[in-house]
Amino acid sequence: MTFGNSPCLGSKWGEEYFRNIEKFLIETGMNCFEHDGSYPGDKCASTVHPGHRGLDDSQWTQFYKIASLSRRGRCCHDRAA
Ligand SMILES: [Zn+2]
Repeated sequence: MTFGNSPCLGSKWGEEYFRNIEKFLIETGMNCFEHDGSYPGDKCASTVHPGHRGLDDSQWTQFYKIASLSRRGRCCHDRAA
């Protein structure tokens, strides 16, 4: 763990969180999302999370998820960077 416990972005909670960000941006028309830090790089051993299969792909799939949000221009600042 890099910064203590952090939630898995591939969990049901994580999937819903990203859906809510997208919904918020679409409904408000905002094109900038400033957040206080990116995914810290933790792995997750769960085999029941919808966003990854298990420990081996958990880090990559979480990185890809947060990177995809940035690439779509939805993320203009990462204050921890
Ligand atoms: Zn997970």
